Amino acid sequence: MPDELRFDGQTVVITGAGGGLGRAYALFFGSRGANVVVNDLGSSSKGEGHSTKAADVVVDEIKKAGGNAVPNYDSVEFGDRIVETAIKAFGSVHILINNAGILRDISFKNMKDADWDLIQLVHLKGAYKTTKAAWPVFRKQKFGRIINTASAAGLYGSFGQANYSAAKLGLVGFTETLAKEGAKYGIFANVIAPMAASRMTQTVMPEDLLSMLKPEWVVPLVAYLAHKDTEETGGIFEAGAGFVSKLRWERSDGALFKTDDSFTPASILARWSEVQDFESKTPQYPTGPNDFFALLESARELQSN
Ligand code: NAD
Repeated sequence: MPDELRFDGQTVVITGAGGGLGRAYALFFGSRGANVVVNDLGSSSKGEGHSTKAADVVVDEIKKAGGNAVPNYDSVEFGDRIVETAIKAFGSVHILINNAGILRDISFKNMKDADWDLIQLVHLKGAYKTTKAAWPVFRKQKFGRIINTASAAGLYGSFGQANYSAAKLGLVGFTETLAKEGAKYGIFANVIAPMAASRMTQTVMPEDLLSMLKPEWVVPLVAYLAHKDTEETGGIFEAGAGFVSKLRWERSDGALFKTDDSFTPASILARWSEVQDFESKTPQYPTGPNDFFALLESARELQSN
């Protein structure tokens, strides 16, 4: 067994830590020496209502086990107040886990603007507001760890979740750019698509699956990514039931067309199998917009012939 990773003297802010995955993260970090800010609005899984109880119960659990924790009851849309709680109580913030979330599942046909807006507000704007407040602190201390929470629904699409999928994939793009802008300041950002039994999933998954999906089984990856010794940044991971894996974009080798009158929709049709051929040629794994410009060299060659 390797030595267990600890977080002594570090302050971790976890949004939506009053239940489900966030609670599991909070209890873990509290048991490994970190100061924990347990944020939770105490709303329903659809984002209705609020209560201080959810955060208070988790803070009590951490304290009873000998850890350090304070509650915060703000909605993540006021993420600056959550970070302020960390600074006031513990003097800084080192790790930010954007985890709070709700669902407004409904077919796209029946989706109302309110279903769309609330999901973007909590998931995307919430993560933006906490990160925006933590960023100058991270930059100044030349250290920060951000873990954002996406979803398989965002990576692959999911029936009845157009609003949620859009927000969750938005968090992937957000993370990728934070990773690029933060690297030289020691700020690392990664994004996870977890799978866990919680009130969010208990009504849509069968009991035997839920029993394999304890939130605790997502904790080791999150804690690893949050640790000062990790070198990982800009990673996209799926985790659940003891399974941990990394994802990346794959671009087919594609087809290159001469950009003259012959470049028509029919020419695309004729070479469609090449456009989507991931098997016979060498696929590429782009990591930024500049990777497209590398293609331009061969395009220039073809056009000049
Ligand atoms: P959960 O409902 O148990 O926990 C979410 C917590 O966020 C709740 O305690 C809730 O009160 C809190 N919250 C909601 N809105 C808030 C707001 N505006 N401000 C502060 N707190 C707020 O759900 P969970 O399954 O633990 O989900 C945690 C995260 O993981 C979410 O972002 C969710 O979208 C994501 N996720 C979960 C799964 C899964 O399988 N459970 C899958 C994919 C993604």
